[in-house]
Amino acid sequence: MAKQLPFILQGRYFTVKGEIDQDGSVNASCQFCPNKTVKGHIHATTNFHKHLKAGHPTTYTEFIATNSRKSRKRKQSEIRENVSDETENETVKGEFFGKKLRYTKEQANQLIMDYVVTDM
Ligand SMILES: [Zn+2]
Repeated sequence: MAKQLPFILQGRYFTVKGEIDQDGSVNASCQFCPNKTVKGHIHATTNFHKHLKAGHPTTYTEFIATNSRKSRKRKQSEIRENVSDETENETVKGEFFGKKLRYTKEQANQLIMDYVVTDM
C-alpha cells in the first residue's frame, strides 16, 4: 500500500479491509472483535479511537501511550532531516538541549539565541 497508514491501522489494533478510497476513507476490522468493521478515514481516525475507547478501554490506554511516544520520535527525526539538508561543511555535532542533532555553527548560534530569548 502506497499511502502511509496511521499507527492505529497498521495491524496491531485494526487491519484495513479492501481499498483505501481516493479521499482517504477506509474500512478496517477490529483486532479484538471477531466480526467488527469500523468505517473511518486515514486522516481522521476518530471513529477507530472511539471504538477502542468504548469497546477496549485497556487497549485504548496502551494505544494512546504508544502512539504519543511514536509521534514524538517522528518529530525529532524530521527535525534532524531538515537540518542535515541545509548542513554544509562546518557542523556542530552531539547533544544539544538533550537532542542529538547536527547543526552548522551559524544555526547552532541562532538556536542558542532563540533559546535564550524564548526562555527569558
Ligand atoms: Zn473491537
